[in-house]
Amino acid sequence: MSFDGINIPQKLVPGNYLQLGLAAQRQTQRNFKELLEKRKLPENGWKEEEIEALVHQLAALDSNNFGHNVGLGEREARIACKLVARRHYNFGHGIGRSGDLLESQPKAAGSTLMANLTNALLLDLIQTIGMRTCRGCFLVPMATGMTLTLCLLALHKQRPKAKYVLWSRIDQKSCFKAITAAGLQPVIINNLVLTEEQSLVTDSDRFLQHINKLGPDNILCLYTTTSCFAPRNSDDIVEIAKLAKLMALPHLVNNAYGLQCNSITTQLDRAQRVGRIDYIVQSTDKNLLVPVGGAIVASRDEESLKHLASSYAGRASSSQTLDVFMTLLSLGHKGYLNLLEERRNNFQYLKLRLQQFAAMHREVVPQCQNNSISLALTLSSLSVTPGSRSVTELGAMLHTRGISGVRVVPVGQTKSIDGYEFKNFGSHRDQLNVPYLTVAASLGVTGSEIDKFFEVLDKCWTQFTKLS
Ligand SMILES: *Cc1c(COP(=O)(O)O)cnc(C)c1O
Repeated sequence: MSFDGINIPQKLVPGNYLQLGLAAQRQTQRNFKELLEKRKLPENGWKEEEIEALVHQLAALDSNNFGHNVGLGEREARIACKLVARRHYNFGHGIGRSGDLLESQPKAAGSTLMANLTNALLLDLIQTIGMRTCRGCFLVPMATGMTLTLCLLALHKQRPKAKYVLWSRIDQKSCFKAITAAGLQPVIINNLVLTEEQSLVTDSDRFLQHINKLGPDNILCLYTTTSCFAPRNSDDIVEIAKLAKLMALPHLVNNAYGLQCNSITTQLDRAQRVGRIDYIVQSTDKNLLVPVGGAIVASRDEESLKHLASSYAGRASSSQTLDVFMTLLSLGHKGYLNLLEERRNNFQYLKLRLQQFAAMHREVVPQCQNNSISLALTLSSLSVTPGSRSVTELGAMLHTRGISGVRVVPVGQTKSIDGYEFKNFGSHRDQLNVPYLTVAASLGVTGSEIDKFFEVLDKCWTQFTKLS
């Protein structure tokens, strides 16, 4: 609340003392005013107290927090446990209305305002980090995989006869399950292997061949992925976007953790200028450091976004919105740009250390021109020792010692997902001769974590080669 406009008598507090306090309060008030009127991310992050004050004021606009509310409906945002109410800052109505994520909720002016404002701040962020061509975006309170499914279902509503999804292979289960969960038919397009670099790139020609073979009318969309495990590169989204435009086919991009990488956002922007992308989907937890549960869908076409929002069944949780809203305010532009820069530096550091390690052990770090997040290291010397143990044990050893996120990809592992067989699952390719591990420098990683990793890797490597 604000004391402005209230006549506070001298008897309660001397006027000159009060003026000092009010002046300080007015700065907070100016911050609120600027945020609500401009709907842009603040340059500097806010103090926790300011964020909380705004959040409390917004929650007070929802009917469940009115002193005089009498609720006779079947859903009145009653919260039994005080701890739960506190965890949600007394927001209880969720967002959206009867199956439209972007519709205003009549019982919840505060939740509605917060949701719209959060989407505006997200758009500002997305545009300033390089995706100027995006005209809109909104937060979906489901993680990336299910949000991709929602996009596919929305596209399917517009092209009900088309059932094939042309998908550039990436060995991440949820990417693929997004297609089968929508009841659609995946067409797996293998990557091209660049022998010299030992990395994988998109086979655009194969996309075209499949379009011609199946007929454009039967194809629901082209489905590409940017951020991924090395030695797979980001898909050639510019080429595929051009193809999508040429063939008048929708194009869905899984940009799971791509917002944190400048080369990816730049490519996406270019792809939207020269070609077609309908939806770009990214995770809130991976890109904004909040708990898992949300995704952001961005597009250059506002009509497509409206169509997507209205494909959602029912009302939605506002929990993810609140997390993102508070996070954006606490970081501000500067805070987020700092995180991006630290990550960039840490990626270079991780790469350097990995290359040094590889040189010492006669291993290779494949060159991935279009992957600046994840790195691979071959494990050839570990797989040829006599009576060798499975290289996956190295992963287990690292894990036991507190290292998480390292993936060891062995040779010859076949996996079946929803009836589709993937040879050498994990490697994004059918033919794999040398096992490898992957590590990533993702948002929030620190230099000391990288140092610790190499300390442990060194020990485990020695132990592994001794025992085998
Ligand atoms: C994380 C990730 C997903 C799935 O994300 P969920 O949030 O778990 O649904 C899909 N694709 C890629 C490339 C990812 O990294």
